[in-house]
Amino acid sequence: MSKTVTKSTCCYCGVGCGVLIESDGDRITGIQGDPSHPANFGRLCTKGMNLPATAASTTGRALYPELRLTRDAERQRVDWDAALDTVAERFADIIRRHGPDAVAFYVSGQLLTEDYYVFNKLAKGLIGTNNIDTNSRLCMSSAVTAYKQALGADGPPTCYEDLELADCVLFAGSNMAYAHPVLFRRLEAAKAARPDMKWIVVDPRRTDTAAMADLHLAIQPGTDVALFNGMLHHLIWEGLIDDDYIGAHTDGFTELKTLVRDYTPKMAAELCGILEADLITAAEWFGRSPSSLSLYCMGLNQSSHGTDKNLALINLHLATAQIGKPGAGPFSLTGQPNAMGGREVGGMATMLAAHRDIGNAEHRAEVADAWGMPVERLSAEPGLPAVAMFDAIRGGRIKAVWIACTNPAHSLPDLGNVAEALAAAEFVVVQEAFANTDTVPYADLLLPATTWGEKSGTVTNSERRISRVRAAVAAPGEAKPDWWIAAEAARRIEAELYPESSSLFPYQNPIEIFDEHAGLTTGRDLDIGGLSYARLEADGPQQWPLPVGATTGLARRYTDGVFATADGRAHFHATPYKPVAEPTSARYPFHLLTGRLRDQWHGMSRTGRVPQLFSHTPEPSLAMHPNDAERRGLKAGELVRVESKRGGLVLPLAVSDEVQSGSVFAAMHWNGQFLNSGGINTASLPKVDGKSFQPELKHAAVRVERA
Ligand code: SF4
Repeated sequence: MSKTVTKSTCCYCGVGCGVLIESDGDRITGIQGDPSHPANFGRLCTKGMNLPATAASTTGRALYPELRLTRDAERQRVDWDAALDTVAERFADIIRRHGPDAVAFYVSGQLLTEDYYVFNKLAKGLIGTNNIDTNSRLCMSSAVTAYKQALGADGPPTCYEDLELADCVLFAGSNMAYAHPVLFRRLEAAKAARPDMKWIVVDPRRTDTAAMADLHLAIQPGTDVALFNGMLHHLIWEGLIDDDYIGAHTDGFTELKTLVRDYTPKMAAELCGILEADLITAAEWFGRSPSSLSLYCMGLNQSSHGTDKNLALINLHLATAQIGKPGAGPFSLTGQPNAMGGREVGGMATMLAAHRDIGNAEHRAEVADAWGMPVERLSAEPGLPAVAMFDAIRGGRIKAVWIACTNPAHSLPDLGNVAEALAAAEFVVVQEAFANTDTVPYADLLLPATTWGEKSGTVTNSERRISRVRAAVAAPGEAKPDWWIAAEAARRIEAELYPESSSLFPYQNPIEIFDEHAGLTTGRDLDIGGLSYARLEADGPQQWPLPVGATTGLARRYTDGVFATADGRAHFHATPYKPVAEPTSARYPFHLLTGRLRDQWHGMSRTGRVPQLFSHTPEPSLAMHPNDAERRGLKAGELVRVESKRGGLVLPLAVSDEVQSGSVFAAMHWNGQFLNSGGINTASLPKVDGKSFQPELKHAAVRVERA
């Protein structure tokens, strides 16, 4: 066999690096960064470089459909027809007995856009339930909500080139060196070329990103809003805001100004546990730099007031006109490879296709018309977002759940609740590429899916750029593409529920799905009517919007100061500071912080297969400040039990001054294969943001004792 090279995209983070997959027959033999891809220009991080090793073996893969007829039986191999007929019969039966909202879909920002599209149409268009949510709820929903409330539409106004053009970069709740490594390399190169570029890092921990900052604001957990309000107070006081821009392009500033009057730098700095002088320095750099860019991620989003944190940061940009120009703007970094694509197709419980709203009758009519179905079938009620969905399963309101390409038994908060929910459901379908995730044991039906290197479609990265994902090798066993499984099952459910109707799911390939999706975006803020597989083939990855007739996509949005709101003005939001949902106490005296490791990804179902990826961090641990360890007589390496009100786990202690006294830190990745329990989310809190429904995965109150 001769070596073949296939252009594709890395399947891990939202940077969306282009890759060249080398293969020999059915074996992936190597990988290179794609020098022509505008996200990475040939660079890859350790995770990307090791992708071929994750694809090297069928060990641990889900290879065949498996079904169990009773909970105490082992799953048995069945053929695809039997598996798909079973899904259709069980789902149709439950829908007939209990209504469409008795079933739910829990999908993933790892799915390709085409996969996501079919699942969303299956839930909302065929079954008539909005009970489809995704692990993107745990990732980006606070950023989405804030963009919509402040700027009028989802999606960042910025592009990757802004990293190189910024004079001041404010990292907020983002360990970018680990979570978005290739973009961080671009920033490092920019700072090396322009050492005057200022880096401010806001993070309770001294992460590797914070260690490289010109100014590290090690705030107390959850005090970001107080910090941003205090910075705005200083900017107003010093005349560093842009009154002309505020007057011409925004509303709501008077109310905000009244609120932040109380947030003197002294008061805000005390709330944040930092020096007043440092807060003022941050405000001065942000306000006086020709271009200021903020980069933010889970530290803002995974919070019971994550939307407010995002809004308070966007306030800073609007007040100083640091938006809609090169090197400036609020840039939410997408965690997952296709959280953006999922939002584009409306694959969440709170949205409709192409950034449309469930509660908007005109939007529902447009979608029903495009899908060729009666509008009455589209529910006007939002579905249940992730945490509420699993509560409803536990409580018996939802009887059947179909989980695709995600691992809620590891990644949702309060894992004890999740385990109870999955045990309580009448029927659990798990569609997965890997057979050993923490969720697979709960599957009544396991559907083997293809994964990176084996599947085709598109993804959208953090800068709104759509790239092709291409298959380099055949799938192992009987694994099938996610879109194919969803469409095949949908046709069978359709035959059960609406035998007289013509099919909503005629797709033979992902191109047909993409074209249907692109058609639905026409006239919307994310219009990709001018994009097709042929154009992506000819011109490479493209940013949206790219309507019919456009020669390129749009690098930056709102350059004319006209926003996507009804009146074209951006909205300031007066956001008072609120503390973390679960304060520390005498019984639970530590702040538990969670985050990523450099070389692992999510629940390690893929990265956990590669020995080289353990060389940076070989084992799980709980990091504690040396003073706290000494006070408790604890030594590095000994086993400690970290426990919240909900549960806990045993971890080796790491003594480190990267965490502040009073806080401990554990990585989110380690799963049931490596631990005596399902991971750190055993302890985490299911409290969600009231606007975005994103849970506070970043913080819980815990105690730590010798195990
Ligand atoms: Fe993959 Fe992200 Fe690394 Fe790029 S930065 S190679 S997309 S994990």
